[in-house]
Amino acid sequence: MLLPIPSTAKKTRIEGKIPLIILGSTGSIGKNTLNILEQNRNDFELIGLSANSNFKLFAEQVNKFKPKYAVLANENFSKELLNLVSSQTKLTFGENALVELSQNEEATTVVAGIVGFQGLKTVLTALESGKRVCLANKESIVSGRNLVESSLKKGQGEIIPVDSEHSAIFQCIQGLNHKTDILNLIITASGGPFFGKTKEYLRNVQPKDALNHPNWSMGKKVTIDSATLFNKGLELIEASYLFDIPEERIKVHIHPQSIVHSMVETVDGSSIAQLGIPDMKVPIAYSLSYPEKRFVNVESHIDLLKQSKLDFFAVDSETFPSIELSREALRTGGSATCVLNSSNEFVVEDFLAGKISFLDIFSKVENAFNKFSQTKTSSYNELLELHGEIEKFIKA
Ligand code: MG
Repeated sequence: MLLPIPSTAKKTRIEGKIPLIILGSTGSIGKNTLNILEQNRNDFELIGLSANSNFKLFAEQVNKFKPKYAVLANENFSKELLNLVSSQTKLTFGENALVELSQNEEATTVVAGIVGFQGLKTVLTALESGKRVCLANKESIVSGRNLVESSLKKGQGEIIPVDSEHSAIFQCIQGLNHKTDILNLIITASGGPFFGKTKEYLRNVQPKDALNHPNWSMGKKVTIDSATLFNKGLELIEASYLFDIPEERIKVHIHPQSIVHSMVETVDGSSIAQLGIPDMKVPIAYSLSYPEKRFVNVESHIDLLKQSKLDFFAVDSETFPSIELSREALRTGGSATCVLNSSNEFVVEDFLAGKISFLDIFSKVENAFNKFSQTKTSSYNELLELHGEIEKFIKA
């Protein structure tokens, strides 16, 4: 059944201040969201912030923005944080406190900016408590699509995409009849730092080379995923789930300028695209203010006269097998997309730690995928168990 986007997103204008929680405030999405808040102070009431272990930056954010509640998920740094925080904010610690914050009834909107599988739990609990979830955590829907869908139904919450490609598609389909008008989705990819490179070249690349993204400034995990194109694979799955479009109707085009953020082909021969400079504040702001474009926050508009060229290329699937593997995961169904995501998360950790080579990322994800892709799960705990099994297999 069709997941959220076109059918559940609420088209009522948001009146007054938005009572907001930001999960993952010290990450790239969190910092950009706080930047929007700073420029639009009267539009928000900051209910809560959460971070994992970056207690120094978190303390600065808490002192500056004075949320009512703040949660540090990693309890090991509770003393350090308590010493640094001077505001009246109520501080709590640990995973349970994080879940509690995601359900806090004083807030209507939650920015889900936690990276990876570990963000899934709070996406589910926020949706169950009826919140608008501004979804930056693609791994949660890729891992737990069915759980996300049932939480959405249970709590009557809504998901508005923050991932720039999905925000682009969401903007392009406004006013379309989702069931009859859409022919194909076209997701664009910058190609990352290794666009056009051969397998031979990739053999010796180091984490620092992979972290050097040409267009977007993001966290480490998503930057490595951009270099392997697993980010695009996960986004293909995310798009298929969010917009209920099968994988054969989703194309991926390499677009090195990162100006066209994605496109929708309609049945009458039109292609509708969303363009802009690469700035995550744009999709974040739209997810917060949808159905309006309420927050003015961009540094500049794209000047097409200066931008003279927009290039598009096919994906080199021979060198970057990630997109095809993601398509296979979608076709396999069940927990296969979770297996793909979890495998990739642990393999990326090993690559960043210097334990494996860049090309090992592909073969190791494929090995784990082949071993676990048929595993059946039906609850969050079973999914968590599968995630743990995959960790053991990869780290063995
Ligand atoms: Mg993206």
